Amino acid sequence: MRNMPADAEVVSHQLLLRAGYIRRVTSGVYDYLPLGLRVLRKIEAIIREEMNRAGAQELLMPMVQPADLWEKSGRLHKYGPELCRFKDRHEHESCLGPTHEEVICDLVARELRSYKQLPMNLYQIQGKFRDEIRPRFGLMRGREFVMKDAYSFHVDDACLQREYDRMFATYQRIFTRLGLEFRAVEADNGSIGGASSHEFHVLADSGEDLIAHCSHCDYAANIEKAVAAVETVTGQAADKTVLATPNTTAAEDVADLLGVPLALVVKTMLYRQQGGDNDGQLVAVCVRGDDEVQEMKLARLLGTDAVELAADDDFASAGGVKGYIGPCGLSVAVYADQSLQGASGLVVGANRPDAHCTGVSLERDADIHQWADIRAVRDGDGCQRCHEGTMVLRRGIETGHVFALGRCYSEPMGVCFQDANGKRAVATMGCYGIGVSRLMAAIIEQRHDEHGIDWPSHLAPFQLSLITLGNKAPVMEASAKLYRALQDAGYDVLWDERRERPGVKFRDHELIGMPWQIVLSERSLERGEVEFSARRAARNPVAIDGIMSHLAVTLEG
Ligand code: ATP
Ligand code: MG
Repeated sequence: MRNMPADAEVVSHQLLLRAGYIRRVTSGVYDYLPLGLRVLRKIEAIIREEMNRAGAQELLMPMVQPADLWEKSGRLHKYGPELCRFKDRHEHESCLGPTHEEVICDLVARELRSYKQLPMNLYQIQGKFRDEIRPRFGLMRGREFVMKDAYSFHVDDACLQREYDRMFATYQRIFTRLGLEFRAVEADNGSIGGASSHEFHVLADSGEDLIAHCSHCDYAANIEKAVAAVETVTGQAADKTVLATPNTTAAEDVADLLGVPLALVVKTMLYRQQGGDNDGQLVAVCVRGDDEVQEMKLARLLGTDAVELAADDDFASAGGVKGYIGPCGLSVAVYADQSLQGASGLVVGANRPDAHCTGVSLERDADIHQWADIRAVRDGDGCQRCHEGTMVLRRGIETGHVFALGRCYSEPMGVCFQDANGKRAVATMGCYGIGVSRLMAAIIEQRHDEHGIDWPSHLAPFQLSLITLGNKAPVMEASAKLYRALQDAGYDVLWDERRERPGVKFRDHELIGMPWQIVLSERSLERGEVEFSARRAARNPVAIDGIMSHLAVTLEG
């Protein structure tokens, strides 16, 4: 494409379209064109090699899954509208697989008899469908996408932990071989469930996730999970006093008006729970004025799927006033961030219009249902692990996720075996995903310039380009001969014999990201030479007779 595609917001999406790697079929669904498929296959090959090396075995499961398996695991209703459900002609409920815990458990439950068959790790590289609410950024968040998903089964948790560590190391090898700058971070388990998990993030400003890591030690976590060391900031102990604060609702403005530090002005937020046992219930949450509520942490604390800010007319029923809500005397449960515990001299909303209370201690003056870590970590916070470094926030693209699931699927799905004592036991389980098609976009986010994609040479769709300039018989014949010789020597070569101007051809190869170019023109042929160069580097003459040995030396290095 000569022009920038109008609806592509991130670089990888723009370049994948412009350079002819993908085409959109419908929202979040793409064709992989020949160039795109080649790169996808190269990424897959590295993943496959490393998974096999780690002792996992490849299989292939179906995309269509019977809904009753999801009923059995308990996820049919929990998973929500991302799960694409349909009925076949016999009225059987089915769904398109967004992930395969149910199918693999069903399979293994039927095959597994004895502890002697364990451990096992089975994986596939396959298309997934998730009816994402906001598909965007091309391959980054599609509805149909390619995933590598692996599932391991074990006699006990110690064995699961060993496999988890092995997969963790395998992922580090995979992302290193892909030439990526990445970080493994502690992660929230989301709807998958289970005990512990790590995400692998490719660092990029376009990433949808925020990750926090320590400047000194190796603590790193998704912002949805990250915890920092925070000192309690306290003011002068005083009696609770109501003050008029007309037209002052934002914490910053209250701090200015009263001349107190922002950290002492408590922000009280009213949330409604979505999902879980207390679906629809309101809760109030207090954090310091200079902090924000981390909504995933809050949801996890409440045991609900998500929280949303309450509507304007919810305030009255909670006993508060919008803009002036405070924790004292509310009729809903109040959760407070632990950084406020023990603090005096705080300012809170007075639950009546145009007024705040000063001199407040939450412990003394409010009925706090629970103290917990609910705040979002900020850049520069102290590290709670080493107490030396400070937290650094960066954007990341989640390209991999490893979970120690335990028995949350194997138990309901009946994945049982006979242990060494002849007793029936439930297998414990891990699962390990990599976003293969998302990786293709993530690599481009890290490796591009204003001229196009800058693939690591082993991931480019072809190893090298042969560009013929002109189309007279001698140069075409010499090119055909060289093309054949290159193929015979085992090179993966793209011959550009299009009738286009030299500038157009050069620009296209730069855009596509071809790492090496051989240029053959009428003039160079007269001299018995080709021109050879790396992408965006100066072209050097090489004798046609010497090109093979030149390549052998250069491309090996
Ligand atoms: P996200 O938070 O980005 O939606 P997830 O936590 O739902 O991801 P997992 O269920 O862990 O993702 O899936 C494993 C991997 O599949 C992810 O690490 C990611 O790389 C990839 N992936 C997930 N959703 C998509 C999508 N919509 N498009 C492309 N890749 C995806
Ligand atoms: Mg998701």
